[in-house]
Amino acid sequence: MAILGTLQDLAGRGMAIPDLVIDAHAHMGAWHNFFIPWNDAKGMIEEMDRYGIDIACIALHVGIGPDVVPANNITAKAIKDFPGRFLGYTCINPRYKDEVIPELKRCIEGFGMFGIKLHPGVHRYSVSSPMCTPVYEYANENKLPILSHTWDNAKTLRNLAEQYPKITFLVAHSSSICAWGGEDYIELAKERNNVYLDIASSIGIYGNIERLVMEVGADKIIYGSDLPFVAIPGQFGQLIWADISEEDKLKIFGLNMKSIVEARYDKSFEL
Ligand SMILES: [Zn+2]
Repeated sequence: MAILGTLQDLAGRGMAIPDLVIDAHAHMGAWHNFFIPWNDAKGMIEEMDRYGIDIACIALHVGIGPDVVPANNITAKAIKDFPGRFLGYTCINPRYKDEVIPELKRCIEGFGMFGIKLHPGVHRYSVSSPMCTPVYEYANENKLPILSHTWDNAKTLRNLAEQYPKITFLVAHSSSICAWGGEDYIELAKERNNVYLDIASSIGIYGNIERLVMEVGADKIIYGSDLPFVAIPGQFGQLIWADISEEDKLKIFGLNMKSIVEARYDKSFEL
């Protein structure tokens, strides 16, 4: 608990949160069809510092769009230029099947990125397609988290989560789960210890955080903002002002993601 007051007190006074906050779902860079201000590493950090967000887990916009290689290069540079402020998702497009494993090795083993980002919606494939198998096999072998937008459906993800138990599967945009028909993921996240719900969303459904905590439990929910694609206050405020305990908010804001990162590296971190 923050010594200066509750999270609501602090945020209500415009103060940064001193407790650990990890944004598990962030991006970086320009987007093709609308303007995003302060979208580079420095701009994002200035924005994160206003709220007390310690670390952002990033997947470059260009990597969920036209080209993963420059995306992953910029991610590597951001990690290097701002130590401790970014964790990198390696953007992968499984359609370029010959490039999948070399790119994973270059980024995970070479640059020290911590996970994988898939965007089957923009890259137009199914996460159950055989072309994704090398991604899952590599991720399972290296105990990597994978964030995807999103997983076709809960049945497909259940199969994957059972087949690849060492992967931590992150379900993007779960805060608006009932708006996009993803309610089956609630049951799945409750049952499978390698499935987590990330609350990044441009749609704020009243009472949905409370519902997720009640049905899934705070241990399986992680904070994400979609920064800089979406500005921080929406999801941040939804969580700060949710009618749940302070302890649960801190788990969602950072402690759960810290555990995921520690499990991935098999060691504990002072974050
Ligand atoms: Zn996103």
